[in-house]
Amino acid sequence: MSGFSSINWLIPKTLNEAVAAMEEHRGEALLYAGGTYVHEQRERGALLKIKAIVDLEGLGLDTIENGGDSIKAGAMVTLNKVIGSDAFRAAGFEALVQAAYATGPDQIKNAATLGGAVACWVPVIDIVPVLMSLRAKAVVQVARESRTIEVGDLLNGPEKTLLGKTALISGFLLPRPAPGSRSQFKKFRRSASDWAVVNASASIRSDGAGRCVDAKLVVGARADGYFSLPRTEQFLIGKQIDGKALAAVPGIVSTELTLTDHFTASADYKRSLCGFLLRDAIAGAAKIDVSQARDAKGVDRHG
Ligand SMILES: Cc1cc2nc3c(=O)[nH]c(=O)nc-3n(C[C@H](O)[C@H](O)[C@H](O)COP(=O)(O)OP(=O)(O)OC[C@H]3O[C@@H](n4cnc5c(N)ncnc54)[C@H](O)[C@@H]3O)c2cc1C
Repeated sequence: MSGFSSINWLIPKTLNEAVAAMEEHRGEALLYAGGTYVHEQRERGALLKIKAIVDLEGLGLDTIENGGDSIKAGAMVTLNKVIGSDAFRAAGFEALVQAAYATGPDQIKNAATLGGAVACWVPVIDIVPVLMSLRAKAVVQVARESRTIEVGDLLNGPEKTLLGKTALISGFLLPRPAPGSRSQFKKFRRSASDWAVVNASASIRSDGAGRCVDAKLVVGARADGYFSLPRTEQFLIGKQIDGKALAAVPGIVSTELTLTDHFTASADYKRSLCGFLLRDAIAGAAKIDVSQARDAKGVDRHG
């Protein structure tokens, strides 16, 4: 592989071999999935200490199993495979396919994998808030033990120290959405080729009368990370999702978020964007025309 000629390139055939290779070269080995982020790191000179690349290609982690209560997607499933998958065409997974579409040009979608997207830990990756809002769990191999960890905990919780060391994500479990579930993903970027400044994913479940019975809302903000919004979720549950409820969402979201200034946008602007993106994502998931929220509020600064 060009640019890595001085590095020991290992292609293990089993998870145990991969973990053993990471342990043998502790601190000097790097897992390699689609390579899209690894190559960026190399160009920035961030891999000077790396002596061994552990290529995950040979582990057979590129399948999507559509059976049972959860869909199992291997860590090496590419974003284009997500887009083309029958399993993810089911109601409730809309946001996953939308976020995969929204991730970079086709060359990136062809190579970038679910595992690499989560493990590169760059705020803001598009697929991450969606996995969190779908309550996905990562299956993580730590030494000889396989552990199942909520994606949010792996990135934000006590488990976040696992990645980047000897932990290897082997796949993801995505619970099959209950009847009445729908989801939507939204992203704000400064130009068509830019990464998100903020992004948002809303998964909601409505009863037959259009009342919200479950909601999982997640936003990402560059470079603060990913945030669940339990207060906004509680506000929606039991309510008819209409223009009035949608109009209240940005205000509630802004009370839940503490963000920092970034060169792409100030903290206040990002907080405001998160509220409006989430409102639009909820409207999309509920199949409500978002102009109803504008009518209910009278003024809409987001346009
Ligand atoms: C030109 C360009 C445009 C982009 N645009 C966007 C965009 O619009 N939106 C967006 O969200 N992202 C964007 N990205 C980022 C892209 O999402 C990531 O580069 C990609 O998801 C990383 O996946 P990968 O399989 O290529 O990982 P790799 O580059 O192979 O690895 C990334 C990191 O994760 C680690 N890793 C990989 N797999 C595993 C695993 N299974 N277990 C544990 N650790 C692992 C590696 O060691 C490495 O540190 C863009 C990237 C590029 C280069």
